[in-house]
Amino acid sequence: MSIQLPELPYPKTALAPHISEETINYHYGKHHKSYVDKLNAQVENTEWKHAKLEEIVKSSSGGVFNNAAQIWNHNFYWNSLSPAGSHTNRSTDLTQAIDRDFGSLENFKREFTAKALGQFGSGWAWLVNAGGTLKVISTGNADTPLTSESKALLTCDVWEHAYYVDYRNARNTYLEAFWNLVNWDFVSRNLDS
Ligand code: MN
Repeated sequence: MSIQLPELPYPKTALAPHISEETINYHYGKHHKSYVDKLNAQVENTEWKHAKLEEIVKSSSGGVFNNAAQIWNHNFYWNSLSPAGSHTNRSTDLTQAIDRDFGSLENFKREFTAKALGQFGSGWAWLVNAGGTLKVISTGNADTPLTSESKALLTCDVWEHAYYVDYRNARNTYLEAFWNLVNWDFVSRNLDS
């Protein structure tokens, strides 16, 4: 059983105008798919041939890790977004945890945005549950909280391929758009699970 490119949880046009169909065609259809194709070629005839994606991420390094972690990160990213965006719901647990650890939702958004803008070069911004405390972190390139003790709750892809078609080099404008798309139901479920 090879690693599959998951179906997007919404149509390719559904995130517009914040993220265009053209971006999805490249980001999902080319970049994300290419990580899947490359990983399947790399693990053919290796100990990982029948491994689950999470197992590969946790036990590999180098090129295999880079492709496997990028697949996992992108799977998580597409699920972090929803065309329903602001109509999705924060659970009581999530609302209380954000207030406790960031002071307010607005403070949390500010810290997350600053972390995303401050990530030099390619990488990811994350909201994670670090042993009962919510934290905002960033990771470079393919690095992922999956290999840490922290549990990912939300991510934003800040590789240029995530925003260059729609926003050119303006990562800050992409981050403004990102907040319209966050799937709070997904974030809430991740906190509870
Ligand atoms: Mn990406």
